Amino acid sequence: MQIEQNAVVTLHYTLKDNDGNVIDQSEDGSFLYLHGAMNIIPGLENALAGKSAGEELSITVAPEEGYGAKDPERVQEVPKEMFENSGDIEVGLQFHAEGPDGGAVVVTVIEVKDDVVVIDGNHALAGVDLNFDVKVIEVREASEEEIEHGHVHGPHGHHH
Ligand code: ZN
Repeated sequence: MQIEQNAVVTLHYTLKDNDGNVIDQSEDGSFLYLHGAMNIIPGLENALAGKSAGEELSITVAPEEGYGAKDPERVQEVPKEMFENSGDIEVGLQFHAEGPDGGAVVVTVIEVKDDVVVIDGNHALAGVDLNFDVKVIEVREASEEEIEHGHVHGPHGHHH
């Protein structure tokens, strides 16, 4: 069958940045997702629609169809004393904070100055072109329960 709404898709994929560095890849060739349920980024999901098992594709997903553009307003300077109880603050440290819409966001320390800490609330892949090499391994129909839950069940899927 072809990849369409409510198909369960098994993929091999490799994700690289524009310099050819591997950012992410499927483990054991067993990445599964439920098509049409926003399990994966829109750019990749749209490119996979209509494909079937055995097909391979190489696509570049722009940030707008991936993890979004980098939002400069999400980079903020915070007084160092706010971190008094957090131990050593160093570049690369990540923690959870409340985002503008009230949801939890992961914030990364990108610079430590004398009195302030510069934090970045953008997704680590925001503003990054995503170069995917993808092979479709299997396509099957989702069960009613999977459709209801919005994710794949089974050995490589979601466990409850
Ligand atoms: Zn479930």
